[in-house]
Amino acid sequence: MSFYEEYQKYKEIDIDDVFARVTENDVLRAINKESLEVNDFAALLSVQAGDLLERVAQKANEVTRRKFGKVIHLYAPLYLSSHCENECVYCGFRSSRVMERKTLVPEEIEKEAEVISKTGIRHILILTGESRKNTPLSYIVDSVKILSKYFSTISIEIYPLTEQEYKELVSIGVDGLVLYQEAYNEELYKKYHVRGLKRDFEYRLLSPERAGSAKMRTISIGALLGLAEGRKEIFFTGLQAAYLLRKYSETEISVSFPRLKPQGGTFTAPYNISDKELVQFMLAIRLFLPGAGINISTRESSQLRSNLIGLGVTRMSAGSITVVGGYANKQKGDGQFTISDKNSVEETKNMIISKGYQPVMKDWQTL
Ligand code: SF4
Repeated sequence: MSFYEEYQKYKEIDIDDVFARVTENDVLRAINKESLEVNDFAALLSVQAGDLLERVAQKANEVTRRKFGKVIHLYAPLYLSSHCENECVYCGFRSSRVMERKTLVPEEIEKEAEVISKTGIRHILILTGESRKNTPLSYIVDSVKILSKYFSTISIEIYPLTEQEYKELVSIGVDGLVLYQEAYNEELYKKYHVRGLKRDFEYRLLSPERAGSAKMRTISIGALLGLAEGRKEIFFTGLQAAYLLRKYSETEISVSFPRLKPQGGTFTAPYNISDKELVQFMLAIRLFLPGAGINISTRESSQLRSNLIGLGVTRMSAGSITVVGGYANKQKGDGQFTISDKNSVEETKNMIISKGYQPVMKDWQTL
């Protein structure tokens, strides 16, 4: 059964009703369990659990230290192209937006890599808009070959690929996939993705499975928080992560919690996700899936990121720039979204150390 089929099964359930029926005892039982069922996960996501957050946080801290130790892995995003053929109404790179677009040429990629690698970063996440025309697979392959001279871990956040294409990238050293479903609410998904291949909800939802079958070493999924009702979105994110953990036992599965940030345009997030809710969602994932990684990007403020250390986070981006070519040229321009934590890699490392944790720059050597 694919996750899309499992998703259809859960869609039949009145999840609001499940959340509403949760009692304090249900939450306490979930906190005290070692292995949680789906109903325990729902209990931890409920409004009721919001009153017991301190207890949940203590357990999450204990579980994270046991599973991952006191380390935080750092990575940096590298935007290769702002060309995109999709029309996601919430995004600064959407195709209808009039803006100067750019795709880095090999020399420019090399320059970006030099600047980033000088900070000590060894894990790079390459991003493009979704345009097979401007950034075909051959372009991604060539870029990976350049970047592998500078970085020991290369992850991709690009358009969804076929299993064969994922295999090709794995064979040249790509070992991580980041692919957010954006909205697990299929009806709202269609409203937000009005044009382009991304409109195909099912194809996107099944992309992590194709990457898992292609033996990608790490897969990171997530919902773009603010597009739909947060509790339900995280409920389905957790279900998908659990599915992937069961099916691809050799793959490291992570969950990210991107909150919708201002971008070029007038779109405003219809659902506000507070800091407290973000923390609750993260803690619920940690207890439901003790073996899953948890990523927090520079979309969040440095203060919040600092406070989240110890509550389940295992990976953070650092020193991020979302403008194509922005590391080498320090040029202003249109990024995909606004960054909140503008600290340098060094400042981020110091922040992690000050919390009693160890920043890790290199966690894997593929090539
Ligand atoms: S979210 Fe991705 S696919 Fe959608 S418009 Fe932005 S860059 Fe393109």
